[in-house]
Amino acid sequence: MTNLTEIFGSHVFNDSVMRTHLPKEIYKQLKKTIDEGTELNIEVANVVATAMKDWATSLGATHYTHWFQPMTGITAEKHDSFISPASNGKVLLEFSGKELVKGEPDASSFPSGGLRTTFEARGYTAWDPTSYAFVKGTTLCIPTAFCSYDGKALDKRTPLLRSMEALNRQALRILRLFGQNDVKCVKAYVGAEQEYFLIDENMYKKRKDLKFTGRTLFGAKSPKGQELDDHYFRSIKPRVAAFMKDLNEELWKLGVLAKTEHNEVAPSQHEIAPLFTVVNIATDHNQIIMEILQHVAQRHGLVCLLHEKPFSAVNGSGKHNNWSLHTDTGVNLLMPGDTPYENAQFLLFLCAVIQAVDEYQDLIRLSVATAGNDHRLGENEAPPAIVSIFLGDELTAILDAIENDTPYTHHEKTQLRLGVDVLPPLPRDTTDRNRTSPFAFTGNKFEFRMVGSSDSIACANIMLNTAVAEILSRYADRLEGKSDFNNELHNLIRDTIKAHKRVIFNGNGYDETWVEEATKVRGLLNLKTTPDCLPYLISEKNVSMLTRQKVYTKEELYSRYEILLENYCKTTNIEALTMIDMSRKEILPAVTSYIKELASTAAAKKAFCESISCSYEEKLVKHLSALVEIIDMRTNELENILINVKESSNISELSCAFRDKVLPAMQALRIVADDAESITAEKFWPYPTYGDLLFSVI
Ligand code: ADP
Ligand code: MG
Repeated sequence: MTNLTEIFGSHVFNDSVMRTHLPKEIYKQLKKTIDEGTELNIEVANVVATAMKDWATSLGATHYTHWFQPMTGITAEKHDSFISPASNGKVLLEFSGKELVKGEPDASSFPSGGLRTTFEARGYTAWDPTSYAFVKGTTLCIPTAFCSYDGKALDKRTPLLRSMEALNRQALRILRLFGQNDVKCVKAYVGAEQEYFLIDENMYKKRKDLKFTGRTLFGAKSPKGQELDDHYFRSIKPRVAAFMKDLNEELWKLGVLAKTEHNEVAPSQHEIAPLFTVVNIATDHNQIIMEILQHVAQRHGLVCLLHEKPFSAVNGSGKHNNWSLHTDTGVNLLMPGDTPYENAQFLLFLCAVIQAVDEYQDLIRLSVATAGNDHRLGENEAPPAIVSIFLGDELTAILDAIENDTPYTHHEKTQLRLGVDVLPPLPRDTTDRNRTSPFAFTGNKFEFRMVGSSDSIACANIMLNTAVAEILSRYADRLEGKSDFNNELHNLIRDTIKAHKRVIFNGNGYDETWVEEATKVRGLLNLKTTPDCLPYLISEKNVSMLTRQKVYTKEELYSRYEILLENYCKTTNIEALTMIDMSRKEILPAVTSYIKELASTAAAKKAFCESISCSYEEKLVKHLSALVEIIDMRTNELENILINVKESSNISELSCAFRDKVLPAMQALRIVADDAESITAEKFWPYPTYGDLLFSVI
């Protein structure tokens, strides 16, 4: 392998490349733009663009693209080549500052939820210099925001950047109260662990469900599943190891700090985790990871499945969004400190997260709501759809002591006064390893585990950043100008714990009694599906908070509400149509062919010798024929339901109809088809089975 330090970031227009490729003065101005958000003038942009083009073409790039994340979640690119005609019939390679800074993709077919009617179709993309440009294949990718002409965000990057600003504004107000005047900025840092499945490409191609929907819509359980737990952390198989080696190299070239990789619980399931970094970069890097996973898999004759639930009865995939708050002076605000003052500050930020997650549990939950993730959340391997926080016994006991003004019993009893006493050291290990909690404090960060594997992490972090910013702003309002700061702080923390401790749950989230306790006793929300979640996006409480923090406008929220529900309906519609197609064109013909073979075998046996028994064939023919009838009937039913639901009068009604009518009809069809699969001779079955898909990559 090539030298890691040499290849790392070799395809990224990063600080050291800028420093060597740009005149000193230009570099300084660009750096100011990156660090402080100052505007870049066109002369500077021109020089940067030319340097970027020269650097990119030296790596083999012929095209450039404004790389952005529309509201569909995937990244979008429109490639333009660098060439422009020269007078001698040849071409010049050109790239201007204007082209770098602003682009105008023909964006009329990106979803905008009514924000942009097609006659005023053109939005524009604007360079985000805080995220480095990079060369992927033969294309220079320029990270950009995507807006309508009147400045409305049509993407996920813009609100994410706004949420970072909100968080920074409010966190700085708090830090000033603690006398931290040297801190210039506070940012959320994120490490996103990514789960995925790898399956053989030839098998993938034989399944329309995987090709059209990313998940299996049919499939009988294989004799072996994940019950032996023999895949988790096991040594990696050679074909997968070769894939991972390539994957790492590609990611390192793009400056992604890919660090850990291991097998996951389900057969053929794996995980990759990069080192944590600033949240907008982590979001870009996660998008890059998802893209590169798929490209590299293809090179190895594999397909990477990013769907949240590609196989039923086998674990699904998610992302763990590890989130913490850091100052530019290198302090993690979620790290318990060594002095009474640091502890008080730590507890205040901790309380802000607790209150934010409790008060805005609806937003946190809906930030991960998609058709795919609905199949995962609440099933046994995934965190439940109820948002609660795991703090660990140690920290919970400390909060209890503060709430009740009682001595904290650790090794010896100590009375805790904030700003006076030092917290006992919190052993990291006791705070971890509760795999069932959707939102766990793991020593110096929160791990949000509900994000779906195919989703962008942008939405989850937008909601988290903004909700915490909102609570911090209220804390600052209460604390600023108070003469007895310590006393007011103590009261604030005590009040917060009292009011929001219902969201803290250290027990087993898979336990059935938890749902009962959470909803009935504690009054927490249990929003099981996407149509349950999305109305909360436009509730008065949430619109008012998100607009107050200047992260979304009301119109932007309504447009997202429409788009997300539309996406849910479209996804489910495609799945239903795929099932109908597979049932009619593949499953029914396969089963009837097998019936025919059985019947002719029986007939041949009878012709050969009248007295020979054909009870096996007869029994199977009868059973399969009955199943064929039901499969046919349920396919027709599904088709009729699909026609009927389209009569719904609005998007909310339509999404509920898909959930309450279409999905159950799909499930009913699947059950009988899977039954047929389990008794049909393998050579007749039209596509690879679960056993083939899950156990063939060696
Ligand atoms: P796990 O035990 O869940 O694998 P790790 O400590 O290995 O946890 O970290 C998982 C992810 O969390 C990695 O992406 C890592 O970089 C990230 N991470 C570690 N510390 C922090 C932090 N302070 N803030 C945000 N992310 C972090
Ligand atoms: Mg984890």
